[in-house]
Amino acid sequence: MQHVPFMCPEGHRLSPGRVIVGWSPCSCPPCTERGRGLRGHRTYLCLTCKDEHVTTMCYEPYHVPEEGAAYRWP
Ligand SMILES: [Zn+2]
Ligand SMILES: [Zn+2]
Repeated sequence: MQHVPFMCPEGHRLSPGRVIVGWSPCSCPPCTERGRGLRGHRTYLCLTCKDEHVTTMCYEPYHVPEEGAAYRWP
């Protein structure tokens, strides 16, 4: 079974049915270490936040901007 973050930053449980899992290609250091074909983040959109009209997206592994590069989300 794949690892799922236990809670969103707002403290909601990311239980099945309360989260939308996606994929976001990226080349930040934690992604690059994962090797070919795995360079990206699994994304978790909290549906409890969405119900409250807040978009909370979690990244696994945690997104780290490259040193010296301009900060940007993947
Ligand atoms: Zn939430
Ligand atoms: Zn990244």
